[in-house]
Amino acid sequence: MKILLAGGAGFIGSHTAVELLEAGHDVVVVDNYCNSSPRSLERVREITGKDMAVYEADVRDKEAVKNIFDREAVDCVIHFAGLKAVGESVEKPVEYYRNNIDTTLTLLECMKEAGVKRIVFSSSATVYGEENESPYVETMPRGSCSNPYGWTKAMMEQILTDTAHADPDMSVILLRYFNPIGAHESGKIGEDPQGIPNNLMPFVSQTAVGRRDKLTIFGGDYDTPDGTCLRDYIHVMDLANGHLKAVEYAADHKGVEIFNLGTGKPYSVLDIVNTFEKANGVPVPYVIGARRAGDLPSVYADASKAERILGWKTKRDLRDMCVDSWNWQKNNPNGFRDQDQS
Ligand code: NAD
Ligand code: UDP
Repeated sequence: MKILLAGGAGFIGSHTAVELLEAGHDVVVVDNYCNSSPRSLERVREITGKDMAVYEADVRDKEAVKNIFDREAVDCVIHFAGLKAVGESVEKPVEYYRNNIDTTLTLLECMKEAGVKRIVFSSSATVYGEENESPYVETMPRGSCSNPYGWTKAMMEQILTDTAHADPDMSVILLRYFNPIGAHESGKIGEDPQGIPNNLMPFVSQTAVGRRDKLTIFGGDYDTPDGTCLRDYIHVMDLANGHLKAVEYAADHKGVEIFNLGTGKPYSVLDIVNTFEKANGVPVPYVIGARRAGDLPSVYADASKAERILGWKTKRDLRDMCVDSWNWQKNNPNGFRDQDQS
């Protein structure tokens, strides 16, 4: 199959490109590098020994995207292209709605014109909102989101669902990711946030490598076993494999299907710090600070539907996630920027 990865140079897209290429699929990437580097795709080529078509373009640019669909006989789209920083979305809501919704609409318009019927979408556990209790099940109604980023995901799920209802030949797969961390086992690709990381694992690994003085744990007084928040961390290569399974499932499926992609096992912030230190033999200095606005105490998946229907199951544990995150960070202390500057 030929699979178009919108936003394919980013963290999850680049790992998914490896998984798809290694499974023998053809990959086409379109990315404007607003939160990534073309170096990630060079590394994908190094890891797999395979090539892919790469287009530098804004996915909101209809003419550019239409030209790509005209040139490439795309069978399925995976839509990763979006802005994803929760805090920034509160400060710049219009930018977030404009980018995330417009990329989706442009892709859907171009898919319709090109007769492409399958799309896999990067959604998030955040759409369960605070009304639902973990473990989250796909049959729960979406809840209310605490920030514009989350609302863009909820709105895009609705747009994609309505589009599938209007065209009985369409297949829409909504993948609700939990907390992707880790990196490809080679240490050649990984998460490379710009500026101060918002997410836990890049902050932990940047602290371990000396780029940050210490980690601040957001709240130690939650009603959880050790007082810190619980999350469902998933290795990014397991997540990438979930996309492979979803794309293959979409080939014989019509309508809308939602899958949680998580391990179903909650771990606390302190579990992450302790496992990281122990597995890698490096200290991660930390302090317990105030709670962060909008954080829920406990977020984890019921991951049984993806296992039942896609035959997908995670293979890597928390230790693997910590080892691979550190392997990427210590080999690339400044992410992809070392190379960009040379
Ligand atoms: P990322 O920022 O590393 O990747 C997104 C990619 O999309 C980047 O390469 C960026 O340059 C590109 N992009 C953004 N807007 C674009 C546009 N208008 N035109 C072309 N390219 C554009 O993020 P990621 O962690 O790989 O996340 C991928 C998707 O998964 C995002 O939609 C994100 O919201 C979603 N998601 C991520 C997480 C997470 O924790 N990483 C959790 C849930 C959902
Ligand atoms: N967290 C933290 N310090 C940080 C970043 C995150 O204590 O510098 C905590 C955060 O409060 C949450 C967990 O780590 O409980 C995961 O946060 P992240 O932002 O990575 O993902 P989220 O689940 O919020 O989307």
